Amino acid sequence: MSSSSEETVLNHPLQKPAEEEATEAGNYFVANYPPFSFWKPEYKTKVEDVLDRPPPRDVPLGVYFHIPFCRKRCHFCYFRVYTDKNAAEIRAYINAGIREYEIVAQRAYLQGRKPRFVYFGGGTPSYLSVDQLQDLTDRMKAIMPWDEAEEVAFECEPGTLSEKKLEKIREIGVTRLSLGVENFDDHILEINGRAHRGKEIERAYRFAKSLDFPQINIDLIAGMMEETEDNWKRVVEKAISLEPECVTIYQMEVPFNTTIYKQMKEGGKLTAPVANWQTKRRWVDYAFAEFEKAGYGVSSAYTVVKNPDKVKFVYRDALWEGSDLLPLGVASFGILGDVHYQNQADVGPYMEALDRGESPVFRAYETSAEERLVREFILRLKLGRVRPSYYKNKFGVDVLERFAKPLAYLESEGFINVEEDLLVLSRDGLLQVDRLLHEFFLPQHSHARYT
Ligand code: SF4
Repeated sequence: MSSSSEETVLNHPLQKPAEEEATEAGNYFVANYPPFSFWKPEYKTKVEDVLDRPPPRDVPLGVYFHIPFCRKRCHFCYFRVYTDKNAAEIRAYINAGIREYEIVAQRAYLQGRKPRFVYFGGGTPSYLSVDQLQDLTDRMKAIMPWDEAEEVAFECEPGTLSEKKLEKIREIGVTRLSLGVENFDDHILEINGRAHRGKEIERAYRFAKSLDFPQINIDLIAGMMEETEDNWKRVVEKAISLEPECVTIYQMEVPFNTTIYKQMKEGGKLTAPVANWQTKRRWVDYAFAEFEKAGYGVSSAYTVVKNPDKVKFVYRDALWEGSDLLPLGVASFGILGDVHYQNQADVGPYMEALDRGESPVFRAYETSAEERLVREFILRLKLGRVRPSYYKNKFGVDVLERFAKPLAYLESEGFINVEEDLLVLSRDGLLQVDRLLHEFFLPQHSHARYT
């Protein structure tokens, strides 16, 4: 899921004593760097400059297509989603996305390139009908063939998956099916505004398994409204019993543009009605330990995988290593060369720009070499272990020296172990890595606003 436009103030919980770690409104998850509030409409021309450059020789390309439709808006959702669009409007949106792709694919920077990975995010990509899916992907492949794609990832809401649709998703070449399960308990799903129920998860999962997708990921959220210790244990047990290749576990956050926040505001409350951060970390810690007992390995702050040597997440790893990502569709985020950018966040302006034959880019940011180093250092720290030699080879920088102060601080707190060519986060550090990453931000970004 990759869209949003509401500005939210970044908390810095390391400055707070542990007993004050109530979940307050705001974004916790560090999705990118520098913070989105530094991206500006006036930097849009930077995207045009990159597109005029010759294609790079050895930078992998990914393509992200955003589907902003959902059956229902979840109470914790802060993305710009549409729950009321009919088939003709969806068709018009696909046409606009394809038009955007056709125009941009003609530019110099993309000549001769094919995607190494493709990602369908939302919203709910699986909201599309079988015919719409066929049409969209046929047209995408006609613009840039997928024959060199190592991964085609596709986000699904379990209640939208009929057997026919799952067969189509498999047939179009999806290699990583990602199911937004979040929880298995019907009451918790309902109270948090999710559209699906436990039975739909079970049915969709079993059928997807029978279709032999190379990889099925299930998403879970620790600390949804009314989550309990006992229910969380059942969620973990159930997830293990399904034997997915990969499980992604988020800690519940309550950004400002959510139904939960609106209710907090109406009731004059500062604390969100969800578990505090210590409890959420404990629940993720419990889940990691149970998955490890079942033979899984912890491969990042949010993921466990059945076989760490075989199960890769190309999209994540490529992005965190500086690959290009071509963003298509409303509100999509991407990066080409040194320039981050986001498309118009509302369907109206996005489609109108394309109708006028103009770029749908809304805002952009050109990174400096130092910002790229920080970005790649902090994002890859989320993997739990990084090698300083990687940065020496790529950026010519000794990160042990460059980040000596924050590393010494995190080591003294027991969050990281610093060796000559290996930085390893402790489990405690990994469970709260997003708040630790602020220690590495450049001074001008340390009190930034995130989106
Ligand atoms: S499924 Fe829920 S959380 Fe995901 S984009 Fe749709 S409304 Fe938001």
